[in-house]
Amino acid sequence: MEIRIERRKDLKDKPDQNQLEFGKYFTDHMFLMDWTTEKGWHDARIVPYGALPTDPATMVLHYAQETFEGLKAYRDPQGNVQLFRPEMNAQRMINSNRRLCMAELPVDMFVEAVEAIVKYDEEWIPTLPETSLYIRPFMYAAQPGVGVHPANHYIFCIILSPVGNYYPEGVNPVKIWVEDEYVRAVKGGTGFTKCGGNYAASIAAQVKAEEHGYTQVLWLDGVHRKYVEEVGTMNVMFKIDGKIITAPLEGSVLPGVTRDSIITLLKDFGYEVEERLLSIDELMDAAKNGKLEEAFGTGTAAVISPIGELCYKGEEVIINDFKTGELTQKLYDTLTGIQWGKVEDKFNWVHKVK
Ligand SMILES: *Cc1c(COP(=O)(O)O)cnc(C)c1O
Repeated sequence: MEIRIERRKDLKDKPDQNQLEFGKYFTDHMFLMDWTTEKGWHDARIVPYGALPTDPATMVLHYAQETFEGLKAYRDPQGNVQLFRPEMNAQRMINSNRRLCMAELPVDMFVEAVEAIVKYDEEWIPTLPETSLYIRPFMYAAQPGVGVHPANHYIFCIILSPVGNYYPEGVNPVKIWVEDEYVRAVKGGTGFTKCGGNYAASIAAQVKAEEHGYTQVLWLDGVHRKYVEEVGTMNVMFKIDGKIITAPLEGSVLPGVTRDSIITLLKDFGYEVEERLLSIDELMDAAKNGKLEEAFGTGTAAVISPIGELCYKGEEVIINDFKTGELTQKLYDTLTGIQWGKVEDKFNWVHKVK
């Protein structure tokens, strides 16, 4: 892939690495590439970070034809840069785009584009322990017009944001609101895709959870409002009676890269993992009978987020005395160890950026 480069003249000041929040600062440059029905993918370029052209009739603004990805670049102890399983993000974007009738970007081009922009703005990758560079590739319908149909023009863009240690004071449990009114996804819908529209529809439940003093929402299935699916921006796993249970990937749950990696680690540690339907009643009963030993969310941003409390229809249960479980901590240490190049990468997940 040939990449044209336009360097920014006035490089920005970099933020204090101790004050990084999630997704607040953006680097000097971004990656852009166009797809049209006539030319396919063309004009790959690295340009100064800045506004995108937006005709008011741009189709994405009206019908939300947009998909995105999220991954990170990490510095290993020698200062070298590495990615974590980027081909999985590339393939997931293809799956999302297929569902939304959008142009598909081949896996090797996706990975090459990510590597190119990360390398170009490499100075922005923070160096403090457990900091990283969050990578946000996304694609949208750029054709102007208010008819509903696949667009003849898509734009693929990658922006980068330095992010701090998610847990500056150590891994901390969160309080989760089990949502019994709104739903996120149904089979046949777009639950398995990473598209902006899924999030637009989820904000009402998030606001409701926060009003009740909870950090995130645990979604139940969209048909029966009975089976546990996922948490906000994370997949979710429960350790019940020694076994780990998580929702199966049957169309309404997002296939997380972290989810897949954690399942692999759990099996490697010798645990039994059940990908099956888990009803909220079974979960609440397990919590009340002392069989729910640990619960945690998995996702790129936080890696692992222990769950300390669940609230379902006004009933609250505390998990593991609101402390981070032993297994949760071990999974966090192992996975972050691999991602930052401190633990042996025995599954070949690390992708070095040269
Ligand atoms: C991105 C995302 C996840 C986590 O996926 P990872 O690849 O592990 O970051 C889980 N659920 C939803 C809804 C998501 O958008």
